[in-house]
Amino acid sequence: MTKEEVLQSLAIETDSKLIMTVIDGIGGLPVRGKTELEAAKIPNLDRLASKSICGLIDPISYGITPGSGPSHLALFGYDPFRFEIGRGVMEALGIGLKLTEEDLTARGNFATIDENGIIVDRRAGRISTEKNQEICQFLQNEIREVDGIRVSIYPGKEHRFVIVFQGEGLKDNLIDADPQKDGKKAKGTESLTAEAQRTAEIVNAYLKKATEALKLFHPANTILLRGFSKIPNIPSMFERFKLKPAAIATYPMYRGLARLVGMDVLETGETLRDEVETLKNNFNRYDFFYIHFKKTDSAGEDGDFKKKVKAIEEIDRILPSILKLKPDVLVVTGDHSTPAVLKSHSWHPNPILLYSKYTRPDGIRRFTERQCQKGQLGRFPAMEIIPLMLANGLKLKKFGA
Ligand code: ZN
Repeated sequence: MTKEEVLQSLAIETDSKLIMTVIDGIGGLPVRGKTELEAAKIPNLDRLASKSICGLIDPISYGITPGSGPSHLALFGYDPFRFEIGRGVMEALGIGLKLTEEDLTARGNFATIDENGIIVDRRAGRISTEKNQEICQFLQNEIREVDGIRVSIYPGKEHRFVIVFQGEGLKDNLIDADPQKDGKKAKGTESLTAEAQRTAEIVNAYLKKATEALKLFHPANTILLRGFSKIPNIPSMFERFKLKPAAIATYPMYRGLARLVGMDVLETGETLRDEVETLKNNFNRYDFFYIHFKKTDSAGEDGDFKKKVKAIEEIDRILPSILKLKPDVLVVTGDHSTPAVLKSHSWHPNPILLYSKYTRPDGIRRFTERQCQKGQLGRFPAMEIIPLMLANGLKLKKFGA
């Protein structure tokens, strides 16, 4: 048996309640000697750390900087190398689409070609978002289906959009219908396997029709498609871990990711308080909660150290309302680091604390990267968090006699 199969065979349903709190991009790097967490005043997190076991998690593996897709899959207990989420799917989840197994998605650009079909501007002069919306609406009315396959197009920002082909038998082993560079001839897609042949023909027929229809819309007179993908076939968290899970997140992408692993995605408001209120109101209905806080990551991406510190402090202030629910197991961690210094996600490990009554607290007094590193959990891969939570919730049977 594989480790995954063993876990699956050991998992049992019980009444205990698990909460996984994900502070997006929590980990940081020092500025004048202190990381964002070290600079923040977080008495509640510090106190909780002292009653918990602590450590550092690697989102994916040493040195790998993850996107939100793989880092969340790992947090949810899935091997991010095995279950790949394509770029088209991520983009579709990001705008809140609910995808089914029949859907083939891709990211698209409007682009400009000359009379010889050579791409002269891959971004169609960065047309305005309003213009984009108008063209997408036009295309949607012009071409609703190709060879029995429904086609839907959703505008994004500027020249970008998401396209969804929907019907039976579509495959995603396709190369990008995008030469990636100006000065090259626009090209269709090609199938990488024989079974994707028909899909490639459908996509190419669409491209041809769309380019025909867009003649009057110069500079947006053709489209480029890339990242063809379908949702991966992922077993649900119930199948895997016998959990009845719910997700509380405000951004569509995280809600979509949670849906992929079979979580119920709860309606919630914009603020942290709203999210915690949603947790409270649904606490009796589920036994696993994923609650996501986004502001820390956005501040890190902006390179705004102070704003990230403030966002961390804000989370600290609502922690008592989560503790009041008396979860059997509470984890606080992040999906990856987003140091303000780097203005982007990074490969650095994140602090984690795990609170339950069945631990031997290790006396860590600060919830920071450098303190958690001294904790008994040591440094480990994020996908091992779920087994640890299950064990602490007494949701895993003994392995072997
Ligand atoms: Zn993230």
